[in-house]
Amino acid sequence: MLQVDLRELARGPVETTGDLAVGDPLFEGLGFVLAEPVVVGGKLQATGEGRFYWHGSLRTAVVGECRRCLTPLAVGVRADVGALFSQEPEALDDAEAYPLAPDAVEVDVRVAVREELILAVPRYLECRVDCRGLCPRCGQDLNAGSCGCPPATDLRWTALAALKDKLRD
Ligand SMILES: [Zn+2]
Ligand SMILES: [Zn+2]
Repeated sequence: MLQVDLRELARGPVETTGDLAVGDPLFEGLGFVLAEPVVVGGKLQATGEGRFYWHGSLRTAVVGECRRCLTPLAVGVRADVGALFSQEPEALDDAEAYPLAPDAVEVDVRVAVREELILAVPRYLECRVDCRGLCPRCGQDLNAGSCGCPPATDLRWTALAALKDKLRD
């Protein structure tokens, strides 16, 4: 259960578990593609008048391509989440807290799932840390072997030398 009734929270901590499907509207417009449902765990509890702390976790995988060699890949994503939900008016100005309406009847931890997922997904995917990428000249995957093109640094020096010759003329 990822939407918890405040009356239930008044009685004590509540387990928050649930799977959010890849196509859930919650994940619209995120700029990455989920490969698996988002598995959510954790516990929500009241920590004061109108204040609720969620200690949760999320687990999923995203699909994309290696930014160097463009190989399609899926990368696992996990995050531990500590989130404060608050009905206090100050919460509206607090970037660290998720504001709740004064007349809220439930805490919906999915809001925090979305935010934390955005933070947890790597900005760039790489198939491996030492991926050699594609040759900028012929496009060969350099992980499969050298293509025989001159290295990019040599090209730069050649261009520079040619430019100097030109200027001298
Ligand atoms: Zn790669
Ligand atoms: Zn090449």
